[in-house]
Amino acid sequence: MPIFEYKCKDCGNISEFIVFGKDDDLHCKSCNGQKLEKLLSAHNTTGSARSVGSSVPAGCCGVPNSCGSPGSCCGM
Ligand SMILES: [Zn+2]
Repeated sequence: MPIFEYKCKDCGNISEFIVFGKDDDLHCKSCNGQKLEKLLSAHNTTGSARSVGSSVPAGCCGVPNSCGSPGSCCGM
């Protein structure tokens, strides 16, 4: 089930909600406020971190696609 965490901007309480597409009717479980900020899951955070890492040129000597594996033809 699509369970998301939301942090209340009023009291800082983090609530978990099962959301089926629409999330603008949610209320904080602590103060009943509606200023909820959607938190990214740990999986999503890991995925974005990998994307940042792969932005480094994969080819050798900073030239993308210049060789099959990084460092294999750089020769130092
Ligand atoms: Zn709250």
